[in-house]
Amino acid sequence: MTTTEHRWYVPLSDLIVDDEIVAAVSETVRSGWWSVGPRVAEFEAEFAAFCGSEHALAVANGTAALHLALLALGCGPGDEVLVPSLNFVAAANAIRHTGATPVFVDIVGDDDLNADPADITAALGPATKGILVMHYGGFACDMDAICRIADENGLWILEDAAHAPGATLGGKALGTFGRIGCFSFFSNKNLPVGEGGMAITDDPDLAERLRLLRSHGMTTLTWDRHRGHAHSYDVVAQGFNYRLDELRAAIGLVQLKRLRQENESRGAHAARYRAALDGIEGTSLPFGASGGGRISSHHLCVALLPEGADRLAVRQALEAKRVQTSVHYPPIHMFTEYRGTGRVRELPRTEDAGRRLVTLPLFAHLSDDQVDAVAAALVEAL
Ligand SMILES: *Cc1c(COP(=O)(O)O)cnc(C)c1O
Repeated sequence: MTTTEHRWYVPLSDLIVDDEIVAAVSETVRSGWWSVGPRVAEFEAEFAAFCGSEHALAVANGTAALHLALLALGCGPGDEVLVPSLNFVAAANAIRHTGATPVFVDIVGDDDLNADPADITAALGPATKGILVMHYGGFACDMDAICRIADENGLWILEDAAHAPGATLGGKALGTFGRIGCFSFFSNKNLPVGEGGMAITDDPDLAERLRLLRSHGMTTLTWDRHRGHAHSYDVVAQGFNYRLDELRAAIGLVQLKRLRQENESRGAHAARYRAALDGIEGTSLPFGASGGGRISSHHLCVALLPEGADRLAVRQALEAKRVQTSVHYPPIHMFTEYRGTGRVRELPRTEDAGRRLVTLPLFAHLSDDQVDAVAAALVEAL
């Protein structure tokens, strides 16, 4: 097994490149069929089964999954969608690409960085059509409360489960609570293929809509025609080319087999970080509260630095020890493109966490020595 080379002693994330991955890609290259074909179909079937979902549609990336999902749900101009601001910008951009407006909601607090159901209720307005939740780091949102709010107000729920493949709540996969669940297979996610994504749903009509929009609104695929299953096509929607290819699907099939084990390893490293850092020098590690039937995929391990700590100096001290860190996330409502747009709301807990968060390295094949070195460097920097 080889891992990628870099300037870091502990990079933020790291890919495993081994013979099985290389063989899957080279076999696909040699097959002579590189665009949508049997491996994509197999990856979709395996991923749907893994999640316990009826349908899975593989797409070019996680952002494409969100965009298609919003369009399939009928989201458009004049609509408002509630979405957390402590989030990657993809969901907010996708909402705006449909012509709708994102309305940002606050997080619960320092221990739970997910969207706060009480603030979701406070943010409801006459144009609100849906709630786009994101399971931060692979930790489930309070879906009991959020589903109740959606039911009572006639709203749809879309799950951005980019962090959460393999994560569950009460034994049910994240991504299966809302109408559609969206996943990302970007290189630094738990199931990396390079660029890729998936949309899952139990609703056959939504699945059909996603399928059409994914491929130009065309009624048949090049693959169907290659196999002699179709000779022509009609166009019945204004779609996109958001398809995944065979090479990435082949990698995805190998990664999916490893996902459960890798998520468990991530969880063990996260527990080691927690033991070393939680409560030390005023630092806390969110999502410490266990129970509630929540099993995380441990996509991220983040630390909240004490009030008043100089985050840049702390990150630079870690960098000097060749430890890579990041910030998940600078709140979306504070970006130039988003400042003052939509209905402006107070998001004090998001802004506070956004100032104090540091993301620590986390991937399945981290060693205990690496975790200990990161934790020691952080404590020393405080
Ligand atoms: C990575 C990510 C996305 C976007 O996925 P891409 O595959 O990079 O397009 C969306 N939302 C969240 C929360 C993410 O982490």
